[in-house]
Amino acid sequence: MSDYKNPMGESPHQVPVLTKRFGIENSASIDVYLQHDGYKGLEKALTMTSDQVIDEVKKSNLRGRGGAGFPTGMKWGFVPRQSPKPKYIVCNADESEPGTCKDRPLIEKDPHQLIEACIIAGWALESHQGYIYVRGEYRYLIDILDRALGEAYSKGYLGDNIQGSGFKFNLYTHTGAGAYECGEETALLNSLEGLRGFPRIKPPFPAIVGLYGAPTVVNNVETLANIPHILLNGGEWFAKLGCERNGGTRLFCLSGQIARPGIYELPMGFPLRKMIYEVGGGLRDGKKLKAVIPGGSSCPVLTADEIDVPMDFDSLGKIKSMLGSGGVIVIDEDTCMVKLLQRIMQFYAHESCGWCVPCREGTAWIKKLLDRFHAGFGRPDDPDTVADIAGNIMGKTLCPLGDAAAMPTLSIVSKFRHEFEEHLRLGACPHEKAPAPVS
Ligand code: SF4
Repeated sequence: MSDYKNPMGESPHQVPVLTKRFGIENSASIDVYLQHDGYKGLEKALTMTSDQVIDEVKKSNLRGRGGAGFPTGMKWGFVPRQSPKPKYIVCNADESEPGTCKDRPLIEKDPHQLIEACIIAGWALESHQGYIYVRGEYRYLIDILDRALGEAYSKGYLGDNIQGSGFKFNLYTHTGAGAYECGEETALLNSLEGLRGFPRIKPPFPAIVGLYGAPTVVNNVETLANIPHILLNGGEWFAKLGCERNGGTRLFCLSGQIARPGIYELPMGFPLRKMIYEVGGGLRDGKKLKAVIPGGSSCPVLTADEIDVPMDFDSLGKIKSMLGSGGVIVIDEDTCMVKLLQRIMQFYAHESCGWCVPCREGTAWIKKLLDRFHAGFGRPDDPDTVADIAGNIMGKTLCPLGDAAAMPTLSIVSKFRHEFEEHLRLGACPHEKAPAPVS
């Protein structure tokens, strides 16, 4: 068992739906789950047809919480009704986006919520088998999930004849080996099949040709965790919790130089300024805000002047950024944006799977250039070279990791170019103290 502490933050602005059982003692046990609406969404789903369940999810305006924000009901609707092969439900618990740590408490504090969701997805898609693919570094969560799966089998919520309905569904855990790339759905499926975690060329999409060549739905933990609530309370109720085309709440992971970091469950469309200054208590030590990464390190950064924006997929898209995985990283006036980009690129260069040239070479080149630049050996054309390399990665790679590296790069070079110029002028980083003279 790790020494991980629950990082849930406290704020009167929170709307606890996914986190409503987090404060209850022994919340991971099935007995507590059953006392607090547990498996009621499934019981209701079993009285409905598959199409009715999918319609309810469509009505809810639930969009994928892994990063892409694709409508979940539509994704489910792509899975063919008739299939000569078995269909699969796969839960993506490979949470690895820097700045994001929401799936971990969802599994640790309420594993049955996720298990119930997977069974409902199985019913809706006429699938009888599912997998929860857990990030390698989250290995201790496997124990929690396996214990919960055992409880669900013993109470008849999994197995051959779920609650006497005749419906059969089996669910298994599977651990990854710690590759960020395996969070990409097709790389995840390869890894699950025992292959190297390279992504697959799309199309075909997993809904048609997925795990073992069969129709497969891959959904993120947080996406799935919403499903029992949608079934229990209705799609319209869920849609109204959020804003237009963005139903429900979101677990925002507030980190960086913020006074009260933590995970906060807030309605979709919650204003970013209010999130930083009211929910998060403003910046640490009364510092001034310089920038915000709104949805994990792969999103284009926002300047301090761009924070009057609702936190939903469409509003952030309109200002050319992304809601992504909900990892909100707050950056203060003392942070060097060149150093920040150097650190981000160190991550992406390390995590590139190496399959396609623009990403494999480009991320490593940018990282190397920034190492030299930040060390005080910058050249006047370096910012343009960085932007040029990133521009040649963007949209030219086999999976979204290339774009994930290029987007923060392009935004930092264009919005904080003056910081690059300041480094060139001083021949050093203006944010780092000069070493003490040797006496
Ligand atoms: Fe691999 Fe990067 Fe190409 Fe994705 S974009 S396939 S991670 S090399």
